[in-house]
Amino acid sequence: MERLRLVILIILVIFIVLILFFSIRKINKEKSIEKIEEKKKEEMKINETNLTKINNVTLITVFDNYQHDPELKTGWGFGCIIKTKNKNILFDTGSDSETLLSNMEKMNIKPEEIDIVVLSHVHGDHIGGLSGFLEKNSNVTVFIPASFSRSFKEEIKQTEATVVEVSKEKEIEKGIYSTGELGTWIKEQSLVINTSKGIVVLTGCAHPGIVNIVKKAKEITNQEVYLVIGGFHLSGTDDSDIKRIINSFKEIGVKKAAPCHCSGDRCRELFEQEYKDDFIENGVGKIIEI
Ligand SMILES: [Zn+2]
Ligand SMILES: [Zn+2]
Repeated sequence: MERLRLVILIILVIFIVLILFFSIRKINKEKSIEKIEEKKKEEMKINETNLTKINNVTLITVFDNYQHDPELKTGWGFGCIIKTKNKNILFDTGSDSETLLSNMEKMNIKPEEIDIVVLSHVHGDHIGGLSGFLEKNSNVTVFIPASFSRSFKEEIKQTEATVVEVSKEKEIEKGIYSTGELGTWIKEQSLVINTSKGIVVLTGCAHPGIVNIVKKAKEITNQEVYLVIGGFHLSGTDDSDIKRIINSFKEIGVKKAAPCHCSGDRCRELFEQEYKDDFIENGVGKIIEI
């Protein structure tokens, strides 16, 4: 009799433990579903907010291997300043701060005028000028791909600068967005500026593929593409492949193109042939008003 009571007790205990186990599991599952939904909401943020359109945007290429203004120095890499009514953004810093700062000085842009720095990807020809720039002005927010190394992040944090890590698409400033990190091997973010003429897509080296970047920019803003500017990463690419890319640009509805930096001479020739007056020959010193 004693034994039977013991067995019943054990069965009861096991039963209670099992009920507890499954109910906890259910709660956790619901919690993780909630988390996933929250994350989705976060990702959708750009679509949900009323997109701000900004007018009077000026793009100034302050670092490039192609020359526009003979007074300025060229260097391998890319750096472009976006001037808006509210903020001035430096997108990429070229390969060295000496060239970057001297070009800025010749164009009458003081480092202190820059509020935000955005780095597209980790290659030296895009981040090389950062430390020298921060020595002149560290009162900035630096938006970097989250995949950058911890030591690099620490280095920036040792100055007064604020670091913002970007992984998904994100609003950087009213009307200005990052595509988020794209690509697998070399992760890269591009800038998207929402103007009344359409979006401007600004790329560093376009390692994730220029067409992929433009498609993503269009997808997150749901706006027409006015201009694609920056490195298209097509030097040494076959004519047939470049022509395919130009066709994709046309299909997407890209109005103007300004390939520079790592786009290659042939890419620039072919884009010019196709885009005619809507091709912009970009290089260091070029100012584009939108
Ligand atoms: Zn690169
Ligand atoms: Zn590059």
